[in-house]
Amino acid sequence: MENLSHRKVQKAYRGLGTNITLSAFGSATTTDLDDSFLLLQQFEDKLTVNRSQSELMSVNNSAGIKPVSVSDSTYHLAKLAILTSQQGFGFNALIGPLVKLWKIGFSGAHVPTDTEIKAKLQLIDPTQVELNDQDFSIFLKKPGMQLDLGAIAKGYIADRIQDLWQAKGISNGIINLGGNLLLKGNAPHHVDRKWRIGIQDPFAKRGAAILSVKTGPCSAVTSGIYERLLKTSTGTYHHILDPLTGYPHENNLASVTVFSKESVMAEIETTRLFFKDDPTATYEPLTDIFGVIFVTKDKKIITHGLQSQDLTLLDDSFELSIN
Ligand code: ADP
Ligand code: MG
Repeated sequence: MENLSHRKVQKAYRGLGTNITLSAFGSATTTDLDDSFLLLQQFEDKLTVNRSQSELMSVNNSAGIKPVSVSDSTYHLAKLAILTSQQGFGFNALIGPLVKLWKIGFSGAHVPTDTEIKAKLQLIDPTQVELNDQDFSIFLKKPGMQLDLGAIAKGYIADRIQDLWQAKGISNGIINLGGNLLLKGNAPHHVDRKWRIGIQDPFAKRGAAILSVKTGPCSAVTSGIYERLLKTSTGTYHHILDPLTGYPHENNLASVTVFSKESVMAEIETTRLFFKDDPTATYEPLTDIFGVIFVTKDKKIITHGLQSQDLTLLDDSFELSIN
């Protein structure tokens, strides 16, 4: 039976280097939310590369030396990321050495020299990895190679929190991991049962929306060049690095938002579309993906797969085109 209870529990946390907000409707309690955050922390402990120890750090620290067995979940996420990286469309989970060189979004961020970048480009080949399904081990073949799951970890963890909510009988709610959303079930507080989400203005402060989207249960993931930035006298640098050049990938896109069933797939798809450059190109939706919103640097909003009655432009300095 559909849960129409408006009763809501909501709690904010800090994790995954960002703001986490969990909101659940119906009989959910704050203990349920705390359990969800604990699960998030357990995954972060395994997957982080921003601390000296984690499962992923053990793999990275043994690069060129030996395979390292990891837990089931880390293995499967890393395998998905590595196989996706081997498709060569721009997503590359072996990008670690370059991320650590630039440090964009962290203290010590700087523009490296061409020589430094060229050296790191030798260490990001996603075929130089051995995956062993028998013992869940990962071997990075060259010393200095480093896995970085920063582009997909939030999506994977959101999916796992959704599983936990399903098991707990929490049927409606919002998992917000730093702006990456997972909308579970229907919205009990709207007559049409659809959720309302805002698309962030890439040029304004956090929380300023340029478009409102009505949607059913889904994950909505945004990758933007406004999130983590390095500004220097030579220019502005964002955190999505082109594995071919070692520099931030520059095009006319300010952000890409993808609507999907599974959040981890939306994470991969935002990256794929960011590297495809052209927001007006015909969009061939992958299974699981049902909508895309591009925002360009010259203030155009281009949508694919979404209905006009579900879209409301909130800022008319932007031009909306629906495909
Ligand atoms: P966020 O949600 O934090 O804004 P994204 O999902 O857009 O992040 O992913 C950006 C992160 O992914 C970077 O901080 C880095 O850790 C990693 N990354 C950077 N370039 C690539 C790439 N080409 N392929 C895969 N991961 C990348
Ligand atoms: Mg992402």
